[in-house]
Amino acid sequence: MLNTLPPAPTLIEGRVSIVRLHGEACFDCGTVSKTLRAAGHVVVRGSPRVWQIVTCGCRLKIAA
Ligand SMILES: [Zn+2]
Repeated sequence: MLNTLPPAPTLIEGRVSIVRLHGEACFDCGTVSKTLRAAGHVVVRGSPRVWQIVTCGCRLKIAA
């Protein structure tokens, strides 16, 4: 069915720590000591790669 398409990745401008892109640290605050949960996908401008990111919950959602 076509109604289950994932949301488009959020476009990130500028530099982002690689550990955040790898989902090894909270994308928003960088913590690694909290429970991290999937928070959608992002792309970095200039790169075709789509990254699955995580957050600790310090921000509700990156990508709706
Ligand atoms: Zn956080």
